[in-house]
Amino acid sequence: MIQLGRNGIQIDKEPEICPVCNSVISPLRTDVLKEMWKDQSSWSNKLDVIYECPSAKCGHLFIAHYKRKSESEGSINAFHSFSHSSPQKFMPPKLDDKIIEISPSFSKIYNQAASAEASELTEICGIGYRKALEFLIKDFCLSEHTEDESKIKNMPLMQCINKYVSDVNIKECATRAVWLGNDETHYERKWVSRDIEDLKLLINLVIHWTVSSLLTKEYMGSMQRT
Ligand SMILES: [Zn+2]
Repeated sequence: MIQLGRNGIQIDKEPEICPVCNSVISPLRTDVLKEMWKDQSSWSNKLDVIYECPSAKCGHLFIAHYKRKSESEGSINAFHSFSHSSPQKFMPPKLDDKIIEISPSFSKIYNQAASAEASELTEICGIGYRKALEFLIKDFCLSEHTEDESKIKNMPLMQCINKYVSDVNIKECATRAVWLGNDETHYERKWVSRDIEDLKLLINLVIHWTVSSLLTKEYMGSMQRT
């Protein structure tokens, strides 16, 4: 329990992560944003406190949000528990360099979808993941079949997978990712027991097998049997 200010306000803990640089920190408390008094029911049940990130690289101010909690039923007191900090800066997921190299568009769209998901735009992030998947698969196919560029670009994604993806693991995972991705764009879901977590996992498997395939080809090309 930490005593805050001079009005008997208590908090359960201080924030442990800076929401701007996402580092683990012991923040510097700079001010109590809302003045509150113990045992007054008319006051807001929310408390906001300004902190400063001690990191020399960051040093941003941020706000820790607390909720007022009664220590016993029916009582009003000044005990607050930590809820979250803001502004929460989005940290893009780390993607393999091989994936960024083969499909910069995938990386851009995937990060935007992840950003939408982090902002709780849950009804549209799935459409973004589905679009990202299309770019990854098509760019992978284009890297192996440069002669069919216009065909690949104009072909429906599932047809493209069936015709141009020869690696069984990529093909099987990508096919299932398309099924779930299409569910994110259509009025009615076909795969009702699956959700966006399954779609993300399947896209991660496609990434994994694509990187494996690219690296395998690279070593087979550079180290020939003697
Ligand atoms: Zn920071």
